[in-house]
Amino acid sequence: REQRQVDGMRKGRLHVVVLPYPAKGHSIPLLHFAKQLHSMGVFVTFVNTFNHLSKEHFRSIYGANEDDNPMQVVPLGVTPPEGEGHTSLPYVNHVNTLVPETKILMTTLFARHEDAPPSCIVSDMFLGWTQEVANTFNIPKYVLFASPASGLAFMLHTSELVKQGKLPIDRSKEEDLVYDIPGVPPTRLADFPSPIQDPEDDSYLFYLRNCEQLLEAAGVLINTYYELEPTYIEALRKAYNLISFLPVGPLLPKAYFEPSSDVVPVDSDIRDPCLKWLDTQPDSSVLYVSFGSVAVLSIEQIQEIAQGLEASGQRFLLVLRPPSNPENVPLLPEGFEERTRGRGFVQVGWAPQLWVLSHRAVGGFLTHCGWNSTLESICRGVPMLAWPIQAEQAMNARFLVDVVKAGVELCRVTDKLVTKERISETVKFFMTEGVSTARKNVRKLQKLALNAVALGASVQKNLEDFTLEVRFGKQ
Ligand code: UDP
Repeated sequence: REQRQVDGMRKGRLHVVVLPYPAKGHSIPLLHFAKQLHSMGVFVTFVNTFNHLSKEHFRSIYGANEDDNPMQVVPLGVTPPEGEGHTSLPYVNHVNTLVPETKILMTTLFARHEDAPPSCIVSDMFLGWTQEVANTFNIPKYVLFASPASGLAFMLHTSELVKQGKLPIDRSKEEDLVYDIPGVPPTRLADFPSPIQDPEDDSYLFYLRNCEQLLEAAGVLINTYYELEPTYIEALRKAYNLISFLPVGPLLPKAYFEPSSDVVPVDSDIRDPCLKWLDTQPDSSVLYVSFGSVAVLSIEQIQEIAQGLEASGQRFLLVLRPPSNPENVPLLPEGFEERTRGRGFVQVGWAPQLWVLSHRAVGGFLTHCGWNSTLESICRGVPMLAWPIQAEQAMNARFLVDVVKAGVELCRVTDKLVTKERISETVKFFMTEGVSTARKNVRKLQKLALNAVALGASVQKNLEDFTLEVRFGKQ
């Protein structure tokens, strides 16, 4: 089998097995990555672990024609613990026990594709155990890092932070700045990623273990582009020169790099209610408000947001993930929807974000600064209002506001309850004054992204370097 594998890799098609962490913010960029390799002629198997990306998700990302050139998508044949959010301990623990199932899947893939046996695994930054699977089959493993290069630099430095006694964080020093992380600008301890804020937190050890496992990989493919984070990428390459760091982002379907809104479907079958509402609004007038696929705000905070948006006088599209609400407390203030009718729209659940950000009526994005949302907003040229909630979002927000100045700060990650007064004032300032500088800067980044993904430019070159490395090893 080993000989067949070597022959298959040298002569035949590369076969890359893409394994995402089963959460939207991780699976979506890995899906885009898989599709991109597939379009380059690489044979790809995308593992939709728990079938957690539904047909609707595929469709809202790729449109109705997504089946024209199908890529191999397989489930692992397991189901997640019932009713558990994907950051809960039972869910994380369950994902960590999937080594045997993944080995069975790999054995099946080797048997089924003798002409193109799996040549490498590309897995998520939080699936450190896939190294064991790759070692078993004697193929390299790469990490697809779904956060920015600065987040990667941070994760690679955590064991040093533990040695220096900066982790676990001493709460009395949380305003202190840490200066000496290669590739990371001075960062407040309170802005460090949320899993390591509290050693009692379920994810503390999980996060640290995954940080260590990153350097076991043959290389790290980062969902960023060189021109967005040049100093961070150079610092990484200098500090850890044994493995490759290849920026391959922004990972989005090609159509989203063109600065027009033609990508929004006109087909009424798949036209979402919020898109129909956006059709009724003037150009660049609406603030899109969404906190991603994980964060769940309290009812009290949702009420403050609604009142803040109402008092701001601005147009808005508010997307909400409802919190657990056994007493059925109304999510929105009484009469809110009547009072804001015509200039506000509330959508509960999922919104087709890429289409929303591409709609001509959207002029700003109040975001939790998840890295996918940030890149999507940059690629669609939409300036941001930053409200970080968890994960590495506080660091992303600082980058957006202080470094590239493509956004304005609404609050800090440590703010417990953001009041309606603060929301109303900042939204009003942002949509009337702050937006123009942020828009100018975000459009510059949008152009750089377009250049990075152009034919023959840095992203294509890095993807080609990756395929060459898989075939012949790091040169
Ligand atoms: N997303 C979406 N509709 C929603 C919420 C999220 O399409 O209603 C997508 C969004 O476009 C992005 C991903 O889900 O691709 C969220 O990833 P991000 O890194 O921004 O945040 P996370 O959800 O991981 O906190």
